[in-house]
Amino acid sequence: MKKIEKIAVLTSGGDSPGMNGAIRAVVRTGLNYNLEVFGIKRGYQGMIEGDFFPLKSESVRDIIQRGGTILRTARSEEFKTPEGRKKAYENLKKFKIDAVIIIGGDGSFKGAGIFSQEFDIPFVGVPGTIDNDMFGTDYTIGFDTALNTVTEAIDRIKDTAHSHDRTFFIEVMGRDAGFIALKAGIATGAEMVLIPEIPGQEEKLEAFLSHTKKTSNIIIVAEGNNLGGAAELAKNFGKKYKEHGVRVNVLGHIQRGGSPTAFDRYLASRMGVEAVDALMDNQRSIMIGYTNHEVVHIPFNKTIKGKRDIGKELLRVNEILSK
Ligand code: ADP
Repeated sequence: MKKIEKIAVLTSGGDSPGMNGAIRAVVRTGLNYNLEVFGIKRGYQGMIEGDFFPLKSESVRDIIQRGGTILRTARSEEFKTPEGRKKAYENLKKFKIDAVIIIGGDGSFKGAGIFSQEFDIPFVGVPGTIDNDMFGTDYTIGFDTALNTVTEAIDRIKDTAHSHDRTFFIEVMGRDAGFIALKAGIATGAEMVLIPEIPGQEEKLEAFLSHTKKTSNIIIVAEGNNLGGAAELAKNFGKKYKEHGVRVNVLGHIQRGGSPTAFDRYLASRMGVEAVDALMDNQRSIMIGYTNHEVVHIPFNKTIKGKRDIGKELLRVNEILSK
């Protein structure tokens, strides 16, 4: 196996708060091994376009507390094609990059897994996504921050919902997974949570709206739930249950930004260090996970194929407490 002397780091897919902490950790750990470290701008698209630049210790100073990603991120359709990936490979060769650390989500690791089968440059992944839906890790970087943002926003909405006796449908992110919705539901004491993992809750929602004695209610809607978005639900149910004074709130992109929580900074730091340690230990095509408070290694093919279970216990806790 070729000795690793020069590595590159990039962020790909949806951004998440804490990605900067992971970049910082990768750069400083690489330098600690006397490696040269390069940044690649705008994910795989920057890899295809040759947007590479050297990173020093000062380059990552004062970024751990900042949301977003200093490397920018992108979705690259071109990387999904063999021609695109070949261009990316040629640029890695041109810049003499021996290994790449990808900070991103599911899709990014899918791309990394395919690339690793085609070319001989090792990739290691660090999970950065607010959705927390990656198989093989209890937490992804950004989830804790997003959950806290959502919790704070819902607390504020609850105040006004209570004052005016209103029922709010609040839409949160989660196209395929309901972790944000469910945990925010528990954290805010929401009356109901609609998530993609539990389809067909129409009857339950009807029963709740027709029988509840509460004058103000919070119903959290993960965007990927099968009954539709918050606006659609409010339209359908608002007419029928006029007495609830139905209102809608879509939290949108505020969930993705903001200064990362202490936990996300800590997680990003530990995962970033581990990613470089793993590379230096000849590990390839793995994602760094965090399970039972320990960093772990999960092969790309496992994390791509596996589906993270929402957890019966979490559902039970919510079921009991939301009554
Ligand atoms: P995330 O990493 O947040 O899940 P995406 O699903 O958008 O975000 O994936 C990020 C990028 O990873 C895509 O824009 C694409 O460049 C790359 N990617 C995703 N799926 C594949 C695939 N099947 N083959 C090659 N590249 C892929």
